[in-house]
Amino acid sequence: MKHTVAIYPGSFDPLTNGHLDLIDRGSKIFDELVVAILRNPEKAALFSLEERVTMLEQQTGRWKNVRVDSFEGLLVDYALRQKAQAVLRGIRAISDYEYELQMALMNRKLEPRLETVFMMPAEAYSYLSSRLVKEIARLGGSVHGLVPESVEERLRRRVNGVAPADGRGHSLRASKEKARRSG
Ligand code: ADP
Repeated sequence: MKHTVAIYPGSFDPLTNGHLDLIDRGSKIFDELVVAILRNPEKAALFSLEERVTMLEQQTGRWKNVRVDSFEGLLVDYALRQKAQAVLRGIRAISDYEYELQMALMNRKLEPRLETVFMMPAEAYSYLSSRLVKEIARLGGSVHGLVPESVEERLRRRVNGVAPADGRGHSLRASKEKARRSG
């Protein structure tokens, strides 16, 4: 019998409830789902790779066919090493479509055996992104219900100046204070 493996790649900086919604849906249609964090030295992240792996592992333990990994380089090469047949991506709104279509077609050109599967999250998560969550947290707003509670706590600590290794936490605190002062 065919064993289907899919890769769900992303930055997951940080993990949101929208990501979890997609993981839940993906885990139901694939035999195995690998949530793969892209290691991208060019993209400054709020959370280190280790932190992102920990957040994902803590939240995905409930699905027996989901595992967490990270990769560098071309997604298609990584997918082949994992013996995956599909890449899972989320489409929230039309605005996601153009970029995702371009990526999917380019990946198909690079590796025609790999299919990209798009899934839509529950409506409640269709406006949710890691970028917005970080912005709200930096400005002192509540992200309750948008991310798991443990992620909420980590965000609070990080924007309040508990710096990652590169010391970026201080500039975050400064921008939060600036935002508060300017009302
Ligand atoms: P990337 O930098 O690859 O976009 P993200 O972590 O932002 O990494 O997103 C990874 C994948 O999860 C993408 O396919 C994105 O469209 C999807 N995604 C992100 N947020 C949501 C959400 N709220 N609902 C559904 N899919 C989402």
